[in-house]
Amino acid sequence: RLSEDINEIGINNEHKPPPAELDDNPADASLLMKIIRKGLIDTKNDLDIQRKDPNSPLYSVKSFEALHLKPELLKGVYAMGYNTPSKIQETALPTLIADPPQNMIAQSQSGTGKTAAFTLAMLTRVDTTKDYPQVLCLSPTYELAIQTGEVAARMAKFCPDISIRYAVRGEEISRGDKLKDHVIIGTPGKVLDWSLKFRAFDLSKIIVFVLDEADVMIAQQGHQDQCIRLQKHLSKKCQMMLFSATYEKKVMDFAEFIVPSPITIRLKKEEEVLDNIKQYYVKCRGQDDKYRAIANIYGVITIGQAIIFCHTRKTAGWLAGKMSNEVGSESVGVLSGDLTVEQRLAVLDRFREGHQKCLITTNVLSRGIDIDQVNIVVNFDLPIDQQGNADCETYLHRIGRTGRFGKHGIAINLIDSEQCMRICRDIEKHFGKKIMLLDAENSDEIE
Ligand code: ADP
Repeated sequence: RLSEDINEIGINNEHKPPPAELDDNPADASLLMKIIRKGLIDTKNDLDIQRKDPNSPLYSVKSFEALHLKPELLKGVYAMGYNTPSKIQETALPTLIADPPQNMIAQSQSGTGKTAAFTLAMLTRVDTTKDYPQVLCLSPTYELAIQTGEVAARMAKFCPDISIRYAVRGEEISRGDKLKDHVIIGTPGKVLDWSLKFRAFDLSKIIVFVLDEADVMIAQQGHQDQCIRLQKHLSKKCQMMLFSATYEKKVMDFAEFIVPSPITIRLKKEEEVLDNIKQYYVKCRGQDDKYRAIANIYGVITIGQAIIFCHTRKTAGWLAGKMSNEVGSESVGVLSGDLTVEQRLAVLDRFREGHQKCLITTNVLSRGIDIDQVNIVVNFDLPIDQQGNADCETYLHRIGRTGRFGKHGIAINLIDSEQCMRICRDIEKHFGKKIMLLDAENSDEIE
C-alpha cells in the first residue's frame, strides 16, 4: 500500500545538486577494475559492426581452435582458463589476426575481453626470427601498462622466444642501445623518448600498433598529442587497433583520427539488466530525511548487502558516521576517491567477504566491479553529469550491480527536490522502466 501522505510531503528545491566531484580518476578506476575483476562480464547484447566494404565477409569464431593459432599460444590461452571466446573476441579476433591485416576500433564496456583479444592478436603477429620491436602497445598509465604486460606474459607463457619490454617510468636505456624485444608495452611519453629521441627502435618497423583505453588516454594531459606524434611515424602497412570502454564523441573522433579505414565494432550496452530490478523512489525533505529513509529500510537491506551512492565524499562521510552510530562502524564500509587503490581493494575485500552489510561510496564503484551479493542499491544522490542532467549511463552501471545473473534486485532513489524528481523522471523515460513511489515508513512494501 502506498501511503498517500508521503505524496503530500512538499519537496523542496533548495538542494541544488553539488558540482560533480572528480572522484572517478579514470585511470585509477580502470586499474582497480582490472585488479578486482574475476572474469568476463556477462553480455547478451549484439555487436554493432561498421566496415568500409559491407560485402567483405566478417568471420566469427565460436572456439579458440578455429583461429588456428600457434599451438604454444593456444596452450597459453587455455592455461589462462579461457575456454571459449567472449562476444567481442568472437568477432574481433578473426579480423585482428587475418591477412592482410585490418585496422580496428573496438568499443565495449570493461570486462568484456578486449585486453585478452588484442594481446592475443599482438602475440600472433610476432616473428621471433627477427630481433627488433614489431608490436607496440600504448597504455595511459604505468600501472595499466603493467597490467597489460602481465596478461601478455601469461599468454606467452609457452612461447619463451617472445620477448616483452615495458617502456614505462623506471625503465631506462642508454643512448645507443638498440632494443631487441619483440613487443613494447608502454606509456606514450616513454615510448616517444625511446623511439624518437634515443632511436632505440624504429617505429616504421612496427607491424602492430595498439592503443588501449583510448578514453582514459585522452583524459590524461598531453597523451593524445603524444599518441598522434607516434602514430605519424608508423608505416602505412602497420596494423592499428584502438580500444575503448566508452564511445563519447571525443573518444571516437580521436579513434578515427588515429586509426585509418577501420572496422568498427561496438558491443551495445545491456540495458535489459534493468528487467530484473525493481526500481523505487522515496520522497524526502532533505539530507536528514534521506538518512531516516535509509534507516527505515535498513531492516530489509540487512537481508543481503547494500551499496549506497553519494555524490560527494562529504556526504558519504556524513552518512557513514550516522549509520555507524546506528549499526556499528564495523558494519559500514566507505569507499571514496581519496583512498589509494590498495585501500579501496581492502574496503572491497571486507565487503565481499560479507563482514560489512553496507558500503557507502562516491562514484568510484559504479563501473565494472561485480559484487554478487548486493541486492539493494540506494542512490542517496542521483547520478548527474557535469551539466546537472540525469546521467543514465552511470545509473545503469550503479543499478547493474544488483539483479545480475537473473537474481532480483532493488534500486531505491532518494528524492529531495523538484530537480531530483525531474532527473528521476528523465531516467525513467530513458530506460522506459517504471520507477515506483515507495513509502519508506512502510518498508514491507519492498518485496
Ligand atoms: P577488458 O579489456 O574488456 O576490460 P579483459 O580482457 O581484461 O576485458 O577481460 C576481463 C576478464 O575476463 C579478465 O579477468 C580476463 O582474464 C577474463 N577473460 C577474458 N577473455 C576471456 C575468455 N575468453 N574466457 C574467460 N575469461 C576471459
